[in-house]
Amino acid sequence: MEFVVPAAAPAVLPVAGSEAVFPVRRVYCVGQNYAAHAVEMGGDGRQSPFFFSKPADALVPGGGRIAYPPRTANLQHEVELVVALREGGADIPVEEALAHVFGYAVGIDLTRRDLQAQAKEKGRPWEMAKGFDQSGPLGALTRVAQCGHPDKGRIWLKVNGAVRQDGDLAQMTWNVAEVIANLSSYVTLAAGDLIFTGTPAGVSTVARGDALECGIDGVGGLKIELV
Ligand code: MN
Repeated sequence: MEFVVPAAAPAVLPVAGSEAVFPVRRVYCVGQNYAAHAVEMGGDGRQSPFFFSKPADALVPGGGRIAYPPRTANLQHEVELVVALREGGADIPVEEALAHVFGYAVGIDLTRRDLQAQAKEKGRPWEMAKGFDQSGPLGALTRVAQCGHPDKGRIWLKVNGAVRQDGDLAQMTWNVAEVIANLSSYVTLAAGDLIFTGTPAGVSTVARGDALECGIDGVGGLKIELV
């Protein structure tokens, strides 16, 4: 096939312990999936899951140096368990959902919180708050065969060595199986899809020069530096 302009390189993720890579199709994110974070965002912590997306080319596999984004004075971190799908489907039953998972990673849903607040106030879309360039750093995928399906364990993030987020996967309002099942009632999922599953409380504002480190017990870690 001949392209009329250069085709973008496919987004791929490293897989722990493997030379082969995971090809990314779509990147979904769950909003306010930990009650304490929903409350710090002004909610009551009890709402149904809702979803938004990031472009696949906003991912930064392996983290590292990330350019502080333009058009914001309030960039915030959200450490999240990221689910990678090995197969998809529509209307996937909760009890079958975990069989669709290839593996897990730790990721950061970087957010231009000031733009998100404006969008919420005006009833506008979140894309420019959530889906900007380099807004999705994430670590290597760990296969289910290695990490199982983590449903508890520490999820944490430090800024310049100080702990900002320190939660547990068991605090998720909607667990991974429920998220997959619910999301697949809106869209047909497929192999290569990623789902950022929401963040625990403790999100905070970061600045140029800050070093962020995060991890999830049994899944992996990630470091980024804002430059
Ligand atoms: Mn998030």
